[in-house]
Amino acid sequence: MKGVFNWSDYYKTDPEKISALKTAFKANKIYAMGLMPVRGSRGFRKLNYEYAEKELNVKEVIGKLEESHFNVLGLVIKDTDGACIWDTSVGWNPVNRDILGEFCDVGKDSNIRIMVSFTSMNDAYQGVIHPDRVSIHGTKGKKSGIYYKNGEISTHNEGEMRIDLPEGVLFKDYKKKVPFLTENIDEKSGKARGTRGEGYIPTTSFMCPNSKHVDYLLDLTEEVVKNYSVSGFFADYIRYDGAFTDLCCCDRCIEKFNKNYGFKAKILKSHEWYAFKSDTIANYAQKLQTVIKKTNKDCTSGWFCLPGPKKMFSQKRLGQDWTKLSSILDVASPMEYPYLMGTRDDGWYWEKVGNLFYWYFMRNMKKRIHEFKSPVLAVTNSVECNPEEMLKQMRGFNFGSGIAVFKYFGTTDAQWIALKEYAEKEIGLEDLS
Ligand SMILES: [Zn+2]
Repeated sequence: MKGVFNWSDYYKTDPEKISALKTAFKANKIYAMGLMPVRGSRGFRKLNYEYAEKELNVKEVIGKLEESHFNVLGLVIKDTDGACIWDTSVGWNPVNRDILGEFCDVGKDSNIRIMVSFTSMNDAYQGVIHPDRVSIHGTKGKKSGIYYKNGEISTHNEGEMRIDLPEGVLFKDYKKKVPFLTENIDEKSGKARGTRGEGYIPTTSFMCPNSKHVDYLLDLTEEVVKNYSVSGFFADYIRYDGAFTDLCCCDRCIEKFNKNYGFKAKILKSHEWYAFKSDTIANYAQKLQTVIKKTNKDCTSGWFCLPGPKKMFSQKRLGQDWTKLSSILDVASPMEYPYLMGTRDDGWYWEKVGNLFYWYFMRNMKKRIHEFKSPVLAVTNSVECNPEEMLKQMRGFNFGSGIAVFKYFGTTDAQWIALKEYAEKEIGLEDLS
């Protein structure tokens, strides 16, 4: 079939790791749909706690997924805002509801397994309550028109999510609940990926991966894996902020770098510095793996990565070494969203942009997929593209273990029909339970 390609020519995975994955999810392929409860009922441009608290219908979601033959729900239990949507004694839950618990309960009587996505280093709430744990800039620069200085914390305006005040609630009162809210408003929506949100602009922070933030994340992980029947625990934002090249230069990081690499090694621009960054992220991955497996050995661990050039992007900016991370955690999950960069629905120019990114992401995977030492499950987008673009991506980026789709709210009726048909005619699902 056109667009389908034999990825096994490009990389080999340990057959034992593949069969472990099948056993864990009781299926020969994973067919997953993602859901971001705090981003409201449409796309992913809003941060909407009221929707998550009062309107999200858990039974309806599970029913719809079963009807469309999905076998996994990828539930974002901690998004970039930092809210923890389970019954937590460690984290911040602004929705007064145990959404994870409800999905686990309803999921038990269905064929849907729960895989959770857990945002790690990007955490707007923690950035406000623990500014001492936010990563520190090592040079001066400018971001979205705002200047920052060497030594300042990396708390900036959020790029993607916007907030509407709930009806009848004043800004100053809502800020008490959502402390990372600012008075700045984004009034117009554009067509490029970074300009589509409208509403109040919140701040966001990338936390220092050598700070106590890591201990906080590990406590949360243990709480989730211990108290909930989740089949998979996937770390998102297991990396540095890709928007900057000068993080993190806090005293903790500099001291550790000097200790490990000597005082002669150059901070920020040296082979040693990049190795230090990827070691730091790999250390977190190892701690995460240890906590997950000691709490529930049957829970599959995973991590998300962004496609791009190996040296310039993955290693220098993000601190993600694909080989290291996929040797530690069970499943690697590249986020392949070419048609989020542009869709034909916005006109011929944006169609060209989307197609260009599709071509690039495919080429990037052909070049780099051999770096993974584990099964690879890509996640691609249904939101903000049309059914043909969505299917093209699902076919192209199914590396053999199935495909995950982002995301439940924002998927159109025509896409739901296409998703069901894909399950029935193409992916080749078998229930192994
Ligand atoms: Zn640091």
